[in-house]
Amino acid sequence: MTEPVYRIRNLIRRYNGQTALGVDGLDLAPATITGLIGPNGSGKSTLLGLLAFVDRPSEGEILYQGQPARPFSPEIRFQVTLLTQEPYLLKRSVFDNIAYGLKLRKETDRIRQRVFAAMEGVGLLPESFCHRHWYELSGGEAQRVALAARLVLRPRVLLLDEPTASIDAESAQRIKEAALEARDRWGTTLVIASHDWQWLYEVCDSVLHLDGGRVFGDGAVNMIRGGDWIQKSTGLMALCLADGQRIEAAAPAGGEIAAFVPADALQLKAEGAASPHGLPNVLTGTVSRMLLERSTGRIVVTVLVGGLVFNLKTGQDDVRTLQLFPGQPVTVSFAPGAVQWM
Ligand code: ADP
Repeated sequence: MTEPVYRIRNLIRRYNGQTALGVDGLDLAPATITGLIGPNGSGKSTLLGLLAFVDRPSEGEILYQGQPARPFSPEIRFQVTLLTQEPYLLKRSVFDNIAYGLKLRKETDRIRQRVFAAMEGVGLLPESFCHRHWYELSGGEAQRVALAARLVLRPRVLLLDEPTASIDAESAQRIKEAALEARDRWGTTLVIASHDWQWLYEVCDSVLHLDGGRVFGDGAVNMIRGGDWIQKSTGLMALCLADGQRIEAAAPAGGEIAAFVPADALQLKAEGAASPHGLPNVLTGTVSRMLLERSTGRIVVTVLVGGLVFNLKTGQDDVRTLQLFPGQPVTVSFAPGAVQWM
């Protein structure tokens, strides 16, 4: 079996005593693309910082290519690179920014061709851009320069933290293409945190869901946020949604406070189909988004229910049978025992 690029075991990162991220176990294989999806504050940047070895875990370990890696060490810096939403550029020309890493590595042979090729790789015309100063660039151009400065080093691992969040559409497209090309040409392992679900489901080998500092693996999870759960006389917990519908759940064992339903516990029906109304957790909602998960051929369907968002995965045949389309009213159901607490 190929050795994973990363092996994470029992990792915890705390800030001021508060756990920001906990990962029991996670392996990332070489030349794969992993997506990280989750709301703000769910731990995506924390995980990327740890994978980039610019931060240290509070507990546990991350093996890089089978070895414990020294955070901030030069060997790692040449192999693993992180691109953040606000790229950091040196106060120099575009050419010098991209050539910097090569010079550090003393790889000055054919430096001009390599820098120009890296610029072309992100869609920047070398003649127009190479002499520009760092302050003469739009946000999208600066992000492309920052990516070119990393790709010129042919990194083993490229970590992207919301790389297209606040830039123009053309730059975003160039960045997506250049990142994919790195995987295809050099076998670079990519980990991408993004709110662009469509992109992630299209290109990733697996998409991990994070919430509350926990990594939920490949299956989408559906957090049940907001409102107050009430203990019923039956022993079940009940939550009233904004539209008056109700969710019932088995009571948590201890002091858990947040509830979620795994995607594979949800059933989807067309509204009006003979559904067992009267049973708990038969909820009506509206399809808001449908995405193809390229790695499995399944469709990720997002349904809005009374202010909550449910994501589930279904086969293309089911989509045809149910004649699903965005805007369609549907029924989502799950057993009270399927609700889990954390
Ligand atoms: P995301 O990238 O998913 O938005 P982050 O990894 O940035 O999430 O944050 C996870 C949690 O850790 C949040 O609760 C955040 O407030 C906290 N956090 C992140 N960085 C720091 C820091 N440097 N100091 C204190 N708390 C932090």
